[in-house]
Amino acid sequence: MRIDDLRDSDNVEDRRGSGGGGIGRGGVGLGGIVLALVISYFTGISPMTLLGFMEQTPLAQPSAPAAHKPPAEDKNARFVSKVLASTEDVWTEAFRQNGQRYEAPRLVLFTGATPTACGTGQTAMGPFYCPSDHKVYIDLAFYRELKERFHAPGEFAQAYVIAHEVGHHVQNLLGVADKVHAARQRVSKVEANALSVKMELQADCLAGIWGKRANDMKSLLDPGDLEAALNAATAIGDDRLQQQAQGRIVPESFTHGSSAQRVRWFKRGFESGDMNQCNTFKAAQL
Ligand SMILES: [Zn+2]
Repeated sequence: MRIDDLRDSDNVEDRRGSGGGGIGRGGVGLGGIVLALVISYFTGISPMTLLGFMEQTPLAQPSAPAAHKPPAEDKNARFVSKVLASTEDVWTEAFRQNGQRYEAPRLVLFTGATPTACGTGQTAMGPFYCPSDHKVYIDLAFYRELKERFHAPGEFAQAYVIAHEVGHHVQNLLGVADKVHAARQRVSKVEANALSVKMELQADCLAGIWGKRANDMKSLLDPGDLEAALNAATAIGDDRLQQQAQGRIVPESFTHGSSAQRVRWFKRGFESGDMNQCNTFKAAQL
């Protein structure tokens, strides 16, 4: 992936090493975090539900550590910053074409745990988006997981992770997130999971749109890059992860979609670059 021409984003908050707790501190072993990551981030249950994330939200938030920009020589942080900037450019333009204004999210780099407006964010949740504070949270240790545990190496695979979370921000701005959240309260667990899958596949489709439009703007992709992202989408499908984690597949408990669905919707966004192609809620087939 060719990222040298991309600018850096002004919206990265580097909270690493700022007392938020780290891997191995506080008695949480790396093995436990890795296991929780596998079980909670991608499989059946929403990680936020699993970890009591929503219930934890206190009325008064502890103040977040002071934000500062990542050091210029920090390669991974710079990569994330450039990808984030690229999503800003793509979505600003896409919203403008729709007569709307895009408000960029902030991206927080943290290690271990960090306060968010949705409760305490933890490494074990994997990367996530908090709709209440419009921030994407990521512990860069996740990229090592992606490469080593999920066998999904490559920069475009890493970029896809960011673009997917930014996709959730786009859904938030468009009001999709609110509607889905409200609808989930009224339906059965199985139906709530089905809504969650549609929401996640739409975020994959939006990530695909970013890939297409970003590549049109700056020709980012080298041969093999698209395959790396599709490989990542395959590796983190619910069916694949459930098979690995529990040896069987329970489609009703999917919350993110199967590998094939995730690939299909990412591709749909990537091939069209058109937001109208991402209506997973109206699709006859996912
Ligand atoms: Zn998601």
